[in-house]
Amino acid sequence: MTEEERLAKNTRIREQGKLTREKRKGQVCRVYRVKIDISHLNEAQRVHMKMLFVEAKWLYNDALTFTQKNDINDYDTTTHTVQGLDKDKQPITHELEYLGSQMKQSVIQGIKHSLKSLASLKKHNHTVGSLRYKSDYVSINLQQHSVTYRFYDENHIGLQGFKEHIRIKGANQFWNIPGIELANAKLLNLPDGYYLAITTYQSKGGEQRKYKPEIGIDMGIKTSITTSDGEKYKVLIEESERIKKCQRLIARRKNGSSNRYKARKLLQRAYQRLTSRKKDIANKIVHELLEHERVYMQDENISEWHKGLFGRTVQHSVLGLVKAKLINNERVTVLSSREPTTKYCPVCGKLKKDITLADRVYECPCGYREDRDIHAARNMILLAKKNTCGTQGINAFGEDIRRKQECCNADLVELGSPRFSWSASHKRG
Ligand SMILES: [Zn+2]
Repeated sequence: MTEEERLAKNTRIREQGKLTREKRKGQVCRVYRVKIDISHLNEAQRVHMKMLFVEAKWLYNDALTFTQKNDINDYDTTTHTVQGLDKDKQPITHELEYLGSQMKQSVIQGIKHSLKSLASLKKHNHTVGSLRYKSDYVSINLQQHSVTYRFYDENHIGLQGFKEHIRIKGANQFWNIPGIELANAKLLNLPDGYYLAITTYQSKGGEQRKYKPEIGIDMGIKTSITTSDGEKYKVLIEESERIKKCQRLIARRKNGSSNRYKARKLLQRAYQRLTSRKKDIANKIVHELLEHERVYMQDENISEWHKGLFGRTVQHSVLGLVKAKLINNERVTVLSSREPTTKYCPVCGKLKKDITLADRVYECPCGYREDRDIHAARNMILLAKKNTCGTQGINAFGEDIRRKQECCNADLVELGSPRFSWSASHKRG
């Protein structure tokens, strides 16, 4: 390619990028996860899949060594050999046989992004560490649909470097959505298998949905979530026996042995199962709450809750997930944690000062009496309207607490819509 052609190509890419960004404004970004069916892979393909992540790790670690003395921008991404250390810490040269060109670029790109964000943190006077060598590489970015990966049909994809089609499960989540566009994807090596997290763009549905009336929600320790309609969600997930078992197993295995490595993999699997369950419950709760036209909640610091006293950290992390998902929604109004949602009497307007955590019923001298949590949930609506007239994402003190949504990062955004309703057995009251 001559210099002129190269410049022309760059201009073309830039122009295309501009057009795409303009188009994205009218679209909504969703990430769907599909699972790669390894039972349909032959032995060579399984090795290939495994080696992708091993080679990505090698490349990552080699590039990290390179950055100690050089600029990462000078790293040759077309390289076929990288330096590393073997088991006994002796230098060794690894051949890169499986990793595709775009995959290599994305590994280096990842380092560039990390360095950039570290630099920006440093600039804003945060204490920063440095990037570390990886012992596991779990997420390879596949930059372009129809280049690094492509869909042949609903159940088959192609990956750069693989000759045969690869069977996947779960594309039905988005397959029939009209006008959906596939952007980048991430190949994930999770404890329970390989996944592809696909970033998609679809047009913002213009049709008017019918919502239920507004709702206030109170998050608490006794009952996890209480709505102003009087519904109580109680989330209880126990840390499984399996996790404890795996932890004991690891402790018995010799440090650095392959048996310890295997035991660690088992533990990771058990943890992932727990995480999936939490995510599932959070998704279902959020889905049900967002059936309402507007949701009012309070900006409670869930992680600060008496961890030791109540001990159910697992339950709290579900509430944390629910809160994080709600905060980013435009139909949710968040009140400051300083609003007296529990103390305020909706009938006479007085504040009851001496209410403690043990009082499960709110009683006012004026005769008003209500369940404490339902009372708080109803007050959310009242107080929010009183103070802000429903300003979105701004709390009663005018601070914008809405977090910036990061759409391009498949690891962070989980937007699949749960289709089954929250089963009644989880509800109480
Ligand atoms: Zn009263």
